[in-house]
Amino acid sequence: MSEFAFELELCAHLETRCEGVVARQLGASVADPGGRILDVVCVEPGPKFDERPQLTSAAIPDTAIESAVGPGRARYWKDAFDCHPDRARRATERALEIGFFESQLRNGREYVRQVARYPDWYGRIRGIENKPDLGRPGDLESQLRTDVSLALVDEVVLATESYVTRAHLNRIPDEVGVWRVHRESADADPSVTASALEVEIEVVREAEPLPVDRPGVEPLEANPGRTDVEIVDADDKARTRRRLAERAYGKGWRTFGLPACGNCQLGDDAPSSEVTLPYCDWAGRVVDAGSECGPACPAHEPGDETDVDLEAERERRTPWIADPAGKRRRQSGLDQFW
Ligand code: SF4
Repeated sequence: MSEFAFELELCAHLETRCEGVVARQLGASVADPGGRILDVVCVEPGPKFDERPQLTSAAIPDTAIESAVGPGRARYWKDAFDCHPDRARRATERALEIGFFESQLRNGREYVRQVARYPDWYGRIRGIENKPDLGRPGDLESQLRTDVSLALVDEVVLATESYVTRAHLNRIPDEVGVWRVHRESADADPSVTASALEVEIEVVREAEPLPVDRPGVEPLEANPGRTDVEIVDADDKARTRRRLAERAYGKGWRTFGLPACGNCQLGDDAPSSEVTLPYCDWAGRVVDAGSECGPACPAHEPGDETDVDLEAERERRTPWIADPAGKRRRQSGLDQFW
């Protein structure tokens, strides 16, 4: 049972159900350093969701959003940040690079402003912990307890392929929802092809809403007889939620490689409406090209990587726009504005 295949197939399925953004493997700690990584994040649309894709395809740095750089009058960049100048400079350059800021030199100084007001684009955030096999739970209990006590996301769900018993339910916090995921994968039926991978979700237990607007407790390090924790205030949580939503928007879930192998031939005759997963005909399942594929694999057939544009696919199937026209005004427009 491959956790990687489980995760990608679940993401592909959720993308058809979620009107917002689906992403995978995102940091979800407020404390620094914090080690919590959420397997899957679903960000539901907020009231101005439609405005976010028009801004930029990338994650907008939080330092740039928080700065005093607004969409109105341009400001000298150094005057607009309440942080170390190096950090301010990095945020400014990144915001310019991705098209969130625009700039102009005046008397040898760089003035910046936002191309548009940062929109209220995200709503509820759901975090999903994947544990296809509950017989190998690893740190599952402590991870879910962390998510509940921190309450950074609006709800937390455990997704598994295992049959879920009452004993399993008793071991995890009541607030955590539980999904049993049924995959019609080639593990069970070798005649199933990549294009026919199907997922169904059986809700074993509904998730309870978490108090995202209140302070949370983030466990840091467990020592014998004692766990160090950090109390996280609501403002820090709000900032981290925004950062999480931005990273989800910028990253999405198609962060996988496609095997350069004759046993993974995708896209050639698949309808464009279908989702691309790194499916191996020999293994009969989705594979992780980074860790499973190469000359060490006994069935490796050297070939070219499948020519599939995953960004184009994301754009076609979701509200994300790869290269938005942008709102950068022409230079003459800037002059007029000032
Ligand atoms: S290298 Fe092996 S696992 Fe990877 S696609 Fe080829 S046959 Fe499949």
